[in-house]
Order: sequence, then structure tokens, then C-alpha cells
Amino acid sequence: MNVQAKVRKKHIPTEKEADFLSKVQNAKYDRQIVTGLQKFMDGKVDDDMKDFYTEEELAEIAALKGTNRDIEARMPVKMTRHYFERARVSPSVRTLVKASPAETFDLAGSEDPGKQMSYSPVEGLIHKYELGLIYVAGTCSAHCRFCYREELIAKKEIVREDGSIQAKGLAQIPELVEYIKEHNKIVDENGGRHPETGRERLREILMSGGDPMVLANKGIASWWAALSEAGIESIRLGTKELAFFPDRFDDSFFQMMDDFHEAYPETRLRFMIHFNHPDEFLDKDEDGNYIPVEGGGLKWVESTGRAVKEFGKRGFVTLDNQAPIIKNISDDPDAKRIMQRELRRAKVENHYFFCGRDIVGHKAFNVPIEEAWNILNTSQRGLSGVEAHARLSITHYYGKTEVVAVTNEPIPGVPHAENGVVIFKLLRSAEDAPKKGQVAIVGRNPDAIWFDDYKDRVISDEAGLFSIKA
Ligand code: SF4
Repeated sequence: MNVQAKVRKKHIPTEKEADFLSKVQNAKYDRQIVTGLQKFMDGKVDDDMKDFYTEEELAEIAALKGTNRDIEARMPVKMTRHYFERARVSPSVRTLVKASPAETFDLAGSEDPGKQMSYSPVEGLIHKYELGLIYVAGTCSAHCRFCYREELIAKKEIVREDGSIQAKGLAQIPELVEYIKEHNKIVDENGGRHPETGRERLREILMSGGDPMVLANKGIASWWAALSEAGIESIRLGTKELAFFPDRFDDSFFQMMDDFHEAYPETRLRFMIHFNHPDEFLDKDEDGNYIPVEGGGLKWVESTGRAVKEFGKRGFVTLDNQAPIIKNISDDPDAKRIMQRELRRAKVENHYFFCGRDIVGHKAFNVPIEEAWNILNTSQRGLSGVEAHARLSITHYYGKTEVVAVTNEPIPGVPHAENGVVIFKLLRSAEDAPKKGQVAIVGRNPDAIWFDDYKDRVISDEAGLFSIKA
């Protein structure tokens, strides 16, 4: 049964909400998206795109169609013209967006990474911590091959908590508003914690998907107003649109954002942006070098730079970058150093870098945990304190976890510590806030790409990361 088709409730906007929404203008965008590989195979793409895939590459991918190694069934292929222009001059950007037969060589992985369905009380909502994540869109303007939401974007059927099998659905405003109000009422009546789950008030919502920026201004505005009215203090919006199609951040969008701030001045907006590599936003000269700007810094791609500057003019909104560390895309410490420095110059906070999740096919993308820590640590050499804020995080089923340190020296007399140790710290436990800050220490395993790979070498585990299945 389709959960979303069950009951269609209606959201009745308040007067203030309706007044704000009446001002919102939608604009039209021409992203010039190429969807799927068939157009490349038929030679029906623009002339300058025709050699994006070689004939051999297309033949190899075509041979997998309909088999269990079908590339497009694992993750649909999609690219904007803007991103194609970046890919032309950047091997890393090309690898990010270009389908490859290597993606399905090894299909090991989870269909529901992080076991999100265990935390989904309402369709399209993942409720962990004091933060709720909602799926509001099922696609992005282009698709990263390593996407950790491939099950949502490819509309794969997954097993639910109740044993039923169906694709993940999107959140709807009426159901979500009702859930937030009810949850917070129970928490308030119970002295600040939910009597069953122990969770605090739901005060932050992260709009995600897919990319919420594929919605029209009115769609985004409806969510913001409804969430604000429901008592949400801080709305985050996860987007890669600054990389895929920065012209989406046009005057009509900023006007809508300003009007929202005027109507709801207490609600904070945080954009969680997603740059993997500086080639996504920095211009290059004919020799492939970044272009220094007189007085400091490097030249940005014009449309991206303009959008980021517009954000920077507004004190009520913040930009934080977070991105996974992916093989052959974002594993170069020098590129990472440039990216962190330039982002900070543009008032973008470097928030998290992530170890890749255990998605289906993750072996084609994931960098081992200890190598990822080394990449980030090396990249931060030479950065100032404010430029080097980013931490390396890995999302355990139990909660968000930081990879704090990887040591090289043996610890005499400690079993498993012959080659040094890895220290994990629980940043946020999905259920139990007091566990924050607790650590786990394991012996090193340079090949480890997931928690399971350390199961046989746990030294200390006060956080409980290894006592339940990751
Ligand atoms: S932007 Fe995020 S959700 Fe969209 S394809 Fe890339 S990883 Fe997936």
C-alpha cells in the first residue's frame, strides 16, 4: 500500500503565512539537463558533449543494461550544462558525474544506509536528535555517481520496519506539521523529554532529498512558512545547486528569502551546501591553473561567486559546506586545502567532511576511514584555525561520529594497538543525548571502510559503537 496515498490532509495557512506566500514569485530556469545515457548513445546531445563518453565506454555500459549490473538502475544519470562545462576542465568533476561500469563491479552495501527507516515515524521524515530530516524532493539538477541517497533517487523498493516493501516517499506539509506539534507538546508536558524516546523538542528541520532547490520558490516558501508556524527555530536546506546550477539563486529567490525573513525574523536559515572540489566553483586559465585575484584569493566561476556573495550580504542566513571524501574525486589534500581556504574567504563555514556511507556499490567510491582522516589532516596543514574547522564524520547507525585521531605508534602492552589506534567520538547519539562525547578506541585497520571492519580489534568502547550492529 502506498503510505502517501492513504490520507491526504490539507494544510490551512495562517493569515501571516498566506500574506507571505502571496508575495512569492516563481521564475523559469533553463538548466539544459541531459537525462540518461540513451541520448549519448544515439548521438543526440549537443556537439560539444559528443565525446563526453567514448564509444567503448558507452558499449561497455550498454552491455550491462537489463542485467543485475545495470548502471542506470543503480543510480540514474543526469547532468546540467553548467556542470558539464565544469567537467570539461576537471577530471574530478568528470568522475563525479560520469557513469562508469566500475560502479557495479561489487554491489555490496545497504539498501537503507544508516537504517534510516528505523527513525521514520512519518513518511519522508527521519527523526533523530533534536533535528528532523525531511525528504522534499526526489531528484537533483544533476546526479553524483556516489550519491548516498541512491535508493531514494532511483526509487528503489526497500524493506520497511513493518516488513512491507516500497520506495521511500516524500514528506508532506500537513502530516509533518501535525507530527512536530504533537511531539513538542508531549515533550513540553513531560518536562523537556519525550517519555518514550527520551528525545528533546524538535527545533531544527533539515530539508533534503534530492535537492530542495529543484522546487519552485513557492514550494520552498510553503515549507519554510509552515515549519516556522509549527515552532521550528532553525531551518536547514541541503543543496548542491551552487555547483550544479548556480543561476537558480536569482533575484526572485533572494527576494523570497528576504520576505520570509521579514515575516519570520526569529527563524534562522542555514544552507548546507555541497562542494566536493574547488574545480566546481573556481575558474581556470587556459593552462588549467586557478586565477589569482589582485589583493588575495582566487577567481570564482561568475554565477557561483555572485550567488555566494548575495548570501553573504544577509546576516540571517549561513552557508556551511559538507561533503564526503570520495576516491578520485575529493581525495587530494592540496585541492581540499584550496577549497577550505576559498570557501572561508567567501564566508562559507567548512562544517563536515564525511567518510562514504555503506551504500550499494560503495566499494567503487569509498576511501578507507584512516586514509580519509589523513587526507583531511594533511589538507588542513597550513590553514588558519578558522579555515580548518571541518571535522571528519562517519554516520553510525547509532549517531553521528567523529574520527578524532589516527595514531601511528604502537601502545606497548595493549592488544590490537601494535600499529596504533583510531579514536572515534560520538558527536550525536540518535536517541540518547547524554552519550555525546563518549569515545571508542580500536586497533588500526588501514583497509577499513566501515565500522564492521574494526569489530575484531576493539580496545575500548564506552560509546557503544561496536556493541550494536552499525
Ligand atoms: S547532490 Fe546529494 S542527493 Fe543529489 S545526487 Fe549528489 S549526493 Fe545525491
